[in-house]
Amino acid sequence: MTTSQATEANQPLDVLVVGAGISGLTIAHELAIAKQCRVLVAEAQDRVGGAITTASNDQGYLWEEGPNSFQPTPELLRLAVDVGLKDELVLADGKLPRFVFLNGKLNALPMSPPSAIATKVLTWGGKIRLALGAIGFARPAMAGEESVDQFFTRLLGKQAVERLVAPFISGVYAGDPKRLSASAAFSKIARLETYGGLLAGAILSSKERKSKQINDPNIPKTKSGELGSFRQGIKMLPEAIATKLRAQGTPVKQQWTMRSLHKQGDIYSAKFDTPTGEEIVTARSVVLTTPAYVSAQLLKDYLPNASQALSEIFYPTVACVVLAYPKSEFAYDMKGFGNLIPRTQGVRTLGTIWSSSLFAGRAPEGWQLLLNFIGGTLDPALAKLSEPEIIQAVHQDLKKTILRPETKAEPKAIAVHVWDKAIPQYEIGHLQRLATIETELQKSQGLYISANFIGGVALGDCIKQSLQDANKIAEFLK
Ligand SMILES: Cc1cc2nc3c(=O)[nH]c(=O)nc-3n(C[C@H](O)[C@H](O)[C@H](O)COP(=O)(O)OP(=O)(O)OC[C@H]3O[C@@H](n4cnc5c(N)ncnc54)[C@H](O)[C@@H]3O)c2cc1C
Repeated sequence: MTTSQATEANQPLDVLVVGAGISGLTIAHELAIAKQCRVLVAEAQDRVGGAITTASNDQGYLWEEGPNSFQPTPELLRLAVDVGLKDELVLADGKLPRFVFLNGKLNALPMSPPSAIATKVLTWGGKIRLALGAIGFARPAMAGEESVDQFFTRLLGKQAVERLVAPFISGVYAGDPKRLSASAAFSKIARLETYGGLLAGAILSSKERKSKQINDPNIPKTKSGELGSFRQGIKMLPEAIATKLRAQGTPVKQQWTMRSLHKQGDIYSAKFDTPTGEEIVTARSVVLTTPAYVSAQLLKDYLPNASQALSEIFYPTVACVVLAYPKSEFAYDMKGFGNLIPRTQGVRTLGTIWSSSLFAGRAPEGWQLLLNFIGGTLDPALAKLSEPEIIQAVHQDLKKTILRPETKAEPKAIAVHVWDKAIPQYEIGHLQRLATIETELQKSQGLYISANFIGGVALGDCIKQSLQDANKIAEFLK
């Protein structure tokens, strides 16, 4: 057993960051570079990025097996510019239509009020119910915590939930609207109701948002609806952050798996399994950015109540299935972002991102690359399928949804990534669990948790949350 050289002859670090996903790297970047703290990042895998998993092959395909694009939030763009990626940013056209598969065909989702009137996604009854709800004619909330299903059914009607909200939930959380908490999973939307209807709330909050936008000439300007990535995929961001940290002297250790945490006096001591044996790192503060089930294990003896609350956060299994077909095999022109599929349509796949329609250089000429999602909270049986079975299930679904039904083409299977525990679910009781974790952490000054089960799962939300937490840690270190 050795005490890591990074702690310089028993001098404790300022901050030990556990996990080198986007949350951990953002915190380390902010603390080591902006705040000049002594930081070490320890990551269990042999690469940085966590859920961000870009891959490529020599046949001309470049694909994502985790997040496939991001909303270009001001914090994310600033971070990308800070690590030298300004010219690598690519933006997918915000006007590309998104589709819902209903009654055997794709229907474009309305992107503006006139197209909302013309849309075939809802019947006239459904549209009137949605419009009334949006301007504030809705039953008041029932007592207790509302599920996403209850909240949106009360506000927008059953049809809008089945055809618009539920597919969207599948797309973001791979979750069950009846189990997700409206106030936790959609806190921003749930708050809009307090303005007197979702529409009024949306208008007012967009005015607020515009007034808060930063006017920095270094930050690329983006248009509404645009989605971002980088020329060589999203992994460019974590890799560029890690490179900058290392260049500036902050160690980013890979294959360092944290096993336990103790505190003696004011100093934390963490044990790691590493390729060269056990290492101990001492630090004045520690931030865990690991998934909730890992943090639960790490805090089992040290903060048992926090550990219990963390262990209750559910992660469903989701498979990302990357397939390619000749462009001639599709029933549509494939100009769009992708399609979502309501659970009522007899199709197992949750949705398909039309990857090569979004960003250039993702597939060879004449081929269409697709990223399909299958599994989630409502389909636990997915976990029992083999890879060939998963590919076949998705292929049969694509024949029902976007391929020409008579096609004889077999899929070119580029990759199947089964995430046993994919995305944390903000289920009923989530805010109470977070409150318990927060109360417990206050008993142990200098210990922090910053992760995608707190401020939102999207990359932009993780970065925003991490920056807030980095400021808290810097304050503590003062
Ligand atoms: C399939 C999928 C699709 C998604 N699609 C999108 C999308 O299109 N757009 C979007 O904005 N977001 C998307 N997300 C969400 C987003 O990718 C994640 O919320 C975000 O990347 C989480 O980052 P993180 O750093 O908080 O956690 P993670 O990326 O999970 O990082 C945690 C890190 O901790 C490490 N670790 C675990 N245990 C230990 C240990 N004991 N010691 C040391 N290190 C440890 C892990 O190896 C990992 O690297 C998607 C997520 C998934 C899974």
